[in-house]
Parts: sequence; C-alpha cells; structure tokens
Amino acid sequence: MLELLTEKFSNAFSRLRKARKVTDKVVNDTLREIKLALLEADVDYEVAKKFLKRVRERVLGSDVPRGLSPADFIVTAVYEELVDIIGGEREDLSRGVVLFVGLQGTGKTTTIGKLALLLKKSGSTVAVTSTDVRRPAAVDQLRKIAERVGVPFYEPEGRSPVDMARASKERALKEGVDYLLLDTAGRLHIDGELMEEIRRIKEAVSPSEVIYVADAMQGQTALETARAFHESVNLTGVVLTKMDGDARGGLALSVKEALGIPIKFIGVGEKMEDIEPFYPDRIAQRILGLGDIQTLAEKAREVIPEDKAQHISAKVMAGEFDLEDLRELIRMIRSMGPLEKLLAMVPGVGAQLKHIKVDEKQFRKMEAIINSMTPEERRNPRIINMSRKKRIAKGSGTTISDVNRVLKRYEEMRKVMRKLKGMSGIPVPRFPFRI
Ligand code: GDP
Ligand code: MG
Repeated sequence: MLELLTEKFSNAFSRLRKARKVTDKVVNDTLREIKLALLEADVDYEVAKKFLKRVRERVLGSDVPRGLSPADFIVTAVYEELVDIIGGEREDLSRGVVLFVGLQGTGKTTTIGKLALLLKKSGSTVAVTSTDVRRPAAVDQLRKIAERVGVPFYEPEGRSPVDMARASKERALKEGVDYLLLDTAGRLHIDGELMEEIRRIKEAVSPSEVIYVADAMQGQTALETARAFHESVNLTGVVLTKMDGDARGGLALSVKEALGIPIKFIGVGEKMEDIEPFYPDRIAQRILGLGDIQTLAEKAREVIPEDKAQHISAKVMAGEFDLEDLRELIRMIRSMGPLEKLLAMVPGVGAQLKHIKVDEKQFRKMEAIINSMTPEERRNPRIINMSRKKRIAKGSGTTISDVNRVLKRYEEMRKVMRKLKGMSGIPVPRFPFRI
C-alpha cells in the first residue's frame, strides 16, 4: 500500500540526512522532490500546493530546536502537516441508517459486508439491506454476504427504492439495531436519475451517515465524482477500497483537504476481514517509511502476550534488539497472517518490499538459521565468524550466503530502529512501540 510514495519520500529524506543546516536550498530541494512524489501519486494539485506551502512556512519560519538535526526538524514538519492534510483525528461511524453510495464496481456491497462484520465484532447490532433492485443479482450478492458474516438481511419490501428504504428503516427501528447499512444502486457514470434516487432515499430515511465508496485505484477522476456526489447529497464520510492494489495514494491524501469529508475506513482486500479504520497519523507514518507500528501492534496484540511485546519493545528502545528478539518477532509475525501485508507495516521495510518479496518459505528459513545458532551467538551476533557461519549453515540446511543474508537483514533492522529511537523531533507517544 502506498509503496510509491513511501519510496519517494525515503529518497528525499535520505538526501536530507546529509544536510548540516536548514537553508533555503535544502528546503527547496526536499520540497521539490516531495512535490514530484505527490503529483506522481495523483494527489490533487491544489492540495499538494497547500501542503508544501505550510511545510515551507514552518521550517523556514522557526529555528531548529536544540538537539534536533535539520533532517529530523524537517521530517517532523512534513509528518505533522501530512497528518493534518490527510485528516487529523480519526472519526467513527455514527449509529443509525448508513447509506452507501458510489459508482458501480467500487466495492459498496463488499464494504457493507466487511463493515457489518467489523461492527458486529465490536459489539454493535447490525442489519443490512439493499435498494439495488434493478439488478436482481445485486440483492442476491448482499443476501449471501449477510449470511456469510452472520447479520440479518432485510428483504427489500415495496415498489420503489425509496419505499424499500423506508420500510427497512421502520423495521430497524422496531428491532432496535444500532446500524442499518443500506446499499444503493451504482452506475458506470454519474447520472441525474441516480442522484435523484439517492436524494429521495436520503430524504425518506434521514441517514446518520452518507458514505461514498471510492476505488483508490482511480485517482483524480474519483475525486471529481466524489465532489459531484457531495454537492448533490452531502456526504459524511468516505471509504477507500482496493488500497491493497497498487493505489498510488492520491485519493487518500486529497479527499479530506479537497472536499472536507473524512475517510473513515479503507478496504485492503477481497475478504470480509479486509477492512481497517482509517487513521491519518498511521498513513502518514507509512508514507514516511516509519511503518505502521500501531496497526501492526494491534494485530500483534491479538496473538502476542502483552509481557512479551513489552519485553521486545523495551529492548528496541534500549538499542539492545538481538537475534533472539528477531526470532521472536519472526515467530509472532508468522502467526499473524499474510506476510506481505504485515511486513509493509514494519519500519523501513515498506519501501523495500517490492525488492525483497519475502515469502513464507524464506521466513521459515530465517527462523531455522537463527535456531541453529547458540544462545550466545543470538545475543551477540558479532562473534559469528566464518567457522560459526559454516556450522550454522550446516545445522539449518542452508548456505553461508543465506546466513549472511539473515545477519545483514538484522543489521538493517537495527539501523532503522536506531533511527526511530533517535527521532526525537517527533514526539515519542505518537509511536507507542509495542513490538
Ligand atoms: P459495488 O458494485 O460497488 O457494490 O462493488 P462490489 O462490492 O460488488 O465489488 C466489486 C469488486 O471489487 C468485487 O470483485 C470485490 O471483491 C472487489 N473489492 C471490493 N473491495 C475491495 C478491496 O478493498 N480490495 C480488493 N482487492 N477488491 C475489492
Ligand atoms: Mg453492489
């Protein structure tokens, strides 16, 4: 997710790290690179301009605080302005009728299923229904999804979409559900008839939310479509789907600033579990190559005992992360699910993900190699000389270059962790290191 941006930002910052002072030239060079990255990612032009202006004013308008490197100072400003542009605080879904609108094929029906499951898991009661009756298959699709995630499906009752919506709302009120997720018909293009239908449904059910579902792969055109929907029916939030694909990130960065509507969730796959709340600060961290520590930690907490997590976290902060910890980390990660998705959240790994493409097999190999080391070697990898490497390779059924690769990867991780530790400019509470 967002690999392109992450890569470009890390390039810009790695050059910046050499700077001794915050000069006009340093700032201009960095901002030029960031600007190209943003435009290439299809960020709205006006949004990009505003963002760059704010960063420039901040870094040129104040002195570098003592003890902060020029790079840390600028990265911090970029980070905080990025969070601000992406959307500041995260916003929840209000209870009541939630209307889903958008073009056909963007993922409305799928998103309703995912959200129903998510809301149900968090203890809310949910029902779903559809007014997309022009295509019988569409109603079927939602009925099946509802069955799969285990929430009631309200059969559409009435002659028109407006009647159906009204009847479903009455039933939801009677049954006292917290959320009624209401699917609507989409079209391949915006048309007046569709807008009118949605407007009338909205009038009939006074929804607590009107959620626009947008395909993140569509970039600028989706922003214009969202604008048209917003002008016509007043959206309250956006769900960005297909963020698992090679979406460049333009929409994620532009929606809030350009339209004033918060992104509430992102879809990250085709399965019903593949949805995440949208946290602007986490997205900014991912883009800046800092990894998405919090989301990773949340997933981790489901499988990792708190004390173990804290143990590793303490070692990272103390700069004492050793191969025992790396092995522990690999075991945790392996027990958490699809590796690519998780790895993208690890600091420093996201941007390189394209090149390394770690698969499950490789992870098993890494673990086998670390297993073949003595506890002393794991705690103090520096003692691993050639004859030890030979023994380790033999013991794990691998080669010396495999062993070298593990040691190199470990060194790289240590470097990133040290860098994170030294990032005093960004307040540490923003990175509650739990893994
Ligand atoms: P609708 O016409 O707006 O209701 O779209 P659907 O919900 O029927 O989804 C269209 C296609 O997009 C389906 O094949 C979904 O599986 C797929 N889809 C939806 N959300 C996501 C997502 O977050 N990631 C991926 N990869 N595919 C998605
Ligand atoms: Mg649909």
